[in-house]
Amino acid sequence: MEKPEIWLSFAPELHLFVAAARRAGRSAVRTDGVSTLGHVVESLGVPLTEAGALLVGGRQVPVSHVPADGEEVTVLAVVRPQPLPGPARFLLDVHLGTLARRLRLLGVDAAYESVDIGDAALATRSAAEQRVMLSRDRGLLHRRELWAGAYVYSHRPPEQLRDVLSRFAPPLAPWTRCTACNGTLREAAKESVHEQLQDGTERAYDAFARCTDCGQVYWRGAHHASLNAIVEESLREFGSPGPAEVLPQAVSDTA
Ligand SMILES: [Zn+2]
Repeated sequence: MEKPEIWLSFAPELHLFVAAARRAGRSAVRTDGVSTLGHVVESLGVPLTEAGALLVGGRQVPVSHVPADGEEVTVLAVVRPQPLPGPARFLLDVHLGTLARRLRLLGVDAAYESVDIGDAALATRSAAEQRVMLSRDRGLLHRRELWAGAYVYSHRPPEQLRDVLSRFAPPLAPWTRCTACNGTLREAAKESVHEQLQDGTERAYDAFARCTDCGQVYWRGAHHASLNAIVEESLREFGSPGPAEVLPQAVSDTA
């Protein structure tokens, strides 16, 4: 029996994943007659985390649809903001440390593995903690265990941040989270942080916060201007702040 031939076209956002010959208009694919459309799309290089609606003859079908001969398939990009089945929490792979710190600066829950624990362990953690896996590794995003995943389109941290904020629209709560470990900050009395401060810091500042997880102490300091610029720009573009700031204009030295 002749194997079915179908016609596929991809949204421009997906062109970087597919071979050059599939970027201009529609192109033919011969399928095996039993594979799902989701499998066919993945086999052409597009992680299903990046595929939005799948249309056959203009009508939406599930990824489990088995394409028949002659079908015209359109693969759309994900809609932004993309709804999630739970709160917007993230897990970032070893290459996205700067993005992780910037998300935390904005109060977004961003777990990050600073050592490479491997794709299987990352996928397992994404599932166990219901976190969106953020990565530039397409192979990792193909893993079935992921709770949710998203390809990070740029290698530059400022664009990466805008990409994630525009895609998932997480609530922003700047200066409430530890940029070092992702823990939450709590206001701290000056006396209580005394031992962790150098003389100059203690004299110059009055507002302090401490991470409830790792104990790191935060205050307003030298890098304030650049971090504040990231916060202001993000708030301007992606919404109002959430819960009250624990430490107005606090600073970390790591973002
Ligand atoms: Zn911490």
